[in-house]
Amino acid sequence: MDSLTLPKPPARPAWRAELAEAFTDPAELLGFLGLEAAAFPALREATGRFPFRVTRCYAARMKKGDPADPLLRQVLPLAAELAERPGFSADPVGDLRAVSLPGMLQKYHGRALLITTGACAIHCRYCFRREFPYGAQHLGQRAEREVLARIAGDRSLREIILSGGDPLVLGDESLGRLIGALAEIPHLQRLRLHTRLPLVLPSRVTAELVRVLTDTRLPTVVVVHANHPAEFDEAVREGLDRLRAAGLVLLNQSVLLRGVNDDPDTLIRLSEVLLAHGVLPYYLHLLDRVRGAGHFEVPEERARELVRVLRERLPGYLVPRLVREEAGRPFKTPLL
Ligand SMILES: *Cc1c(COP(=O)(O)O)cnc(C)c1O
Ligand code: SF4
Repeated sequence: MDSLTLPKPPARPAWRAELAEAFTDPAELLGFLGLEAAAFPALREATGRFPFRVTRCYAARMKKGDPADPLLRQVLPLAAELAERPGFSADPVGDLRAVSLPGMLQKYHGRALLITTGACAIHCRYCFRREFPYGAQHLGQRAEREVLARIAGDRSLREIILSGGDPLVLGDESLGRLIGALAEIPHLQRLRLHTRLPLVLPSRVTAELVRVLTDTRLPTVVVVHANHPAEFDEAVREGLDRLRAAGLVLLNQSVLLRGVNDDPDTLIRLSEVLLAHGVLPYYLHLLDRVRGAGHFEVPEERARELVRVLRERLPGYLVPRLVREEAGRPFKTPLL
């Protein structure tokens, strides 16, 4: 370790302060956007079921005065969340059945997914883990030791996916320690992070983070999560450039969301903007049928139609794979 020559990072990095200043009251965000909170009658009740959280830099990319803004729609608690809908449940993709140890999910051959934290920088109303019992199911220190021992003892594992919550909410030290411990397990070949922070808190992508992600023998894939081209701005570009310049492979996964990105022009622009930032589209997920998210659902037939248009209008590498996650299947089900 060259810790003697590295300047000591500040006690509280700027991104942590920014995270702490996120909007946690929807009425406050609506005020910032010049919208009337009274026009959204179920704000409190919906927020009681899944807390509200949005970073200020993400809110700054929303169009003022537009209640249908596609970024706002992703985070705004609506009365529609309270409606009971048949087929929508607390654990739509069978995550709890896939828990192999607290903090560790295993569904697919060769890969294990770690719930590194329950925290996120923004709360997406359609999140399939909105009711996930993070308290019991995330990697505390003891769980981490057990999970590492399990991974070390299972030679079928090739790839570890750091997820959550958002793994980049962890500090550089915890991340570095975890990645270091994983890299010592000889049968592991690669590492993956699923994170929304490069989009919703780009200040998180510091030089020190890039060092932590690249100072390992494990080739590392960063899967970001953007749903709409308006989620990109200059700060996002700088962060993604930094990750790419360091040699990390950048992919994107999106969720197909009614009123956000369920039209061909938006999806085409999203793919083009991703490539312009050095990111390739990976998955386009059909909505996981989690309780409270029914108003986001796009019918499967419409989803197929949209991707057919993308196929006609884009090079193959800019067409995301349309998938649905189904509990108990050995891979995410392709729909085209
Ligand atoms: C989605 C998911 C993965 C990753 O699947 P890929 O098809 O490899 O992207 C791995 N583990 C779990 C539990 C998942 O939900
Ligand atoms: S960032 Fe990801 S895990 Fe967090 S609320 Fe959004 S979709 Fe869910």
